[in-house]
Amino acid sequence: MSEDSLRLSFEFFPPKTDEGRKKLAVVRDTLEEFSPDFFSVTYGAGGSTRDNTKNLVTQFNSLDTPVAPHLSFGGDDEASIKALLSEYQSAGVERIVALRGDMPSGVGGSYQLVYANELVAFIRQHFGDTFELEVAAYPEIHPQAKNYEDDVRYLKGKFDAGADNAITQYFFNPDAYFYFMDQCAKIGIEKPIYPGIMPIINYRNLTRFSDSCGADIPRWLRRRLESFEHDPEALRDFGEEVVTELCETLLEGGAPGLHFYTMNQAEPVANIVTNLGLDEQ
Ligand code: FAD
Repeated sequence: MSEDSLRLSFEFFPPKTDEGRKKLAVVRDTLEEFSPDFFSVTYGAGGSTRDNTKNLVTQFNSLDTPVAPHLSFGGDDEASIKALLSEYQSAGVERIVALRGDMPSGVGGSYQLVYANELVAFIRQHFGDTFELEVAAYPEIHPQAKNYEDDVRYLKGKFDAGADNAITQYFFNPDAYFYFMDQCAKIGIEKPIYPGIMPIINYRNLTRFSDSCGADIPRWLRRRLESFEHDPEALRDFGEEVVTELCETLLEGGAPGLHFYTMNQAEPVANIVTNLGLDEQ
C-alpha cells in the first residue's frame, strides 16, 4: 500500500493438491492488485505441512509482494527449526509469524508445545535482526489462557523477547479489540497490534472454526447468519456488509492496518478492501 501508515496483509494456507495450488495462484494474483505489505502462509500444527508451507513460500517469494511463513516448533527440534530458518534467510524471506501452535490430534505422551515467546527468543538468539517477527494476540483471550491478565502479560512476554508486531485472532466485536488495546497499553505494550479479519463465507465452517479457536460470534450475528442458511449468496452479501463495517470501525478507532484470513478466496476479501476504499490508496 502506498499509504505508509496503514498496513495490509493477506493470509493463505498451503493447498494440498495441484488443483488447489493452481487456484491459489489466481487468488494471489487478484489480491496482489491491492499492493499488500505481505502475504503470509500458515504452518500446520506439528509441522505437518512443513514442506507445503516452505514450497509455497519459495514459490511466492519470487513475486513482488513479500511473503511471511508462519512457524512453530511443533514436534521439531532446535536443529530442524534452525535449518528451516536458514533456508528462509537464504531465500530472502524477511518476516516470520512466530507461534506456539496447537497439539496435533492423536499426539500425546511426551509431546511438548514450545511457547511463542521461546520461539521468538530462539530466532533472535540465532538470527539477530534478520527477520521482522509477528506474533499472535487474542482480544477475546486465548481459549487455554488461565485468565485475561495473564494472557495479556504473555503477549508482553512475546514483545519483550523481540517480537515487532502482533496480529490478532479474528473477532466480530470491535469493543473487544479496543478494550484489549487499552489493557495492552496499561502494561506497557507499545508495538502495533493488527486486527485479524475473517470474511464471512460459509456459516457452518465459521461456527465450527470459531468454537474451536474461541472467537465469539455475537448472538445477533449468529441468528442473522442462520437465516441465510439456504441462501449462500445472501449470506455472503450480508457478511461482506458486516465485516466492512467492522473494518471501518477498527480503522476509525486507530487500528494500524488489517490482516485478512483469506481462506484462500479472493472475492470476499477483495470486495471488503474495495468497499473500504483501500484499493485507491
Ligand atoms: P502462545 O503465545 O505461546 O500462547 C499459548 C497459550 O499459553 C496461551 O493460553 C497463553 O496465555 C499461554 N502462554 C503463553 N506464553 C506462556 C508462557 N511463557 N508460560 C505459560 N503460559 C504461556 N496455528 C497453526 O497451527 N498454524 C498457523 O499457521 C497459525 N497461524 C496463526 C496466525 C495468527 C495471526 C493467529 C492469531 C493464530 C494462528 N494459529 C496458527 C493458531 C495458534 O497456533 C493457536 O492459537 C495456539 O493455540 C497458540 O499459539 P500462540 O503462538 O498464540 O501461543
